Amino acid sequence: MIVVIKQNTEDKNLENLTDWFKSQGLGVHVSHGEYQTILGLIGDTHNVDIDLISGLDIVERVQRISEPYKNANRKFHDHDLVVDVSGARIGDGHFQVIAGPCSVESREQICGIAADVKKAGARLMRGGAFKPRTSPYSFQGLRDEGIELLLEAKRQTGMPIVTELMNVTHLPLFEEVDVIQIGARNMQNFELLKAVGELDKPVLLKRGLANTLEELLMSAEYIMAGGNEKVILCERGIRTFETSMRNTLDISAVPMLKRMTHLPVVIDPSHAAGMSWMVAPLSLAAAAVGADGLMIEVHNDPSHALCDGPQAILPEEFAEIMAKVEKILEVVGKRID
Ligand code: PEP
Ligand code: MN
Repeated sequence: MIVVIKQNTEDKNLENLTDWFKSQGLGVHVSHGEYQTILGLIGDTHNVDIDLISGLDIVERVQRISEPYKNANRKFHDHDLVVDVSGARIGDGHFQVIAGPCSVESREQICGIAADVKKAGARLMRGGAFKPRTSPYSFQGLRDEGIELLLEAKRQTGMPIVTELMNVTHLPLFEEVDVIQIGARNMQNFELLKAVGELDKPVLLKRGLANTLEELLMSAEYIMAGGNEKVILCERGIRTFETSMRNTLDISAVPMLKRMTHLPVVIDPSHAAGMSWMVAPLSLAAAAVGADGLMIEVHNDPSHALCDGPQAILPEEFAEIMAKVEKILEVVGKRID
């Protein structure tokens, strides 16, 4: 970290600041230029409050030269992380597809769709029991009953389940859930992140609607700092000035994240587009750009879906996408195993 000191700062004040940094366990390299004095802080600066330092009278500006995340940082990890979900591996060449409806609606619906997507090659299923809806008058999910039905579909198909946690108090219901999803709207719910950081369970962390990749990694850092290293990142489209799609899929986030972190990255083309016909091309793009997996919403009766019907694809469309994705995976040297 570099601290640029204002011109004409008195030596005494500069000394007070350097002494303070030293008392925090940091080394300080002082460089007196013709016009400026610059302090180079040496050591672990993670706990240094940039806003506090920037606000000091004698400080012109503060600049980080290393990233504020450590556990999630590629620099400190030689290998890509592989997250193993009951035998289904994600990351480092292992690709997985998570598929299922936006919301669990009934026993027949979730068990039927789970069997269909399994047949088409998905190894994990999804389904929301607790739903984050924009309107309080929209369907909020079957809640406890939804979790029960997911577990029943898991018993029938053997597929691990991915479902969203919105409130720490619901955690006891999630004991047999295989992957906890933290939704886009909760990406910066830090208490929730800390709570899942204490678990020994994979977490699928979705990027917020208006969050930078660094913010996404800082949220992953919250989970990992608590001891839970099993984090899967998910790009699901962000808000831009474009209104033609529900969101704009930030496809370049994948290669950029691959450079920044060793964590696996999954793409959700369903929420990104908001339109069923766009799920296929975006899925192929995701596989081609280097994603480690996909999360796709599949429904057996999209026009009657209680949530996100317009972006849901039918099981037969899903099977077609799987066949094409597998061809792209051959080219990029990944496999579903
Ligand atoms: C979902 O996966 O059903 C969901 C609500 O996603 P997001 O948090 O990305 O909107
Ligand atoms: Mn949805």
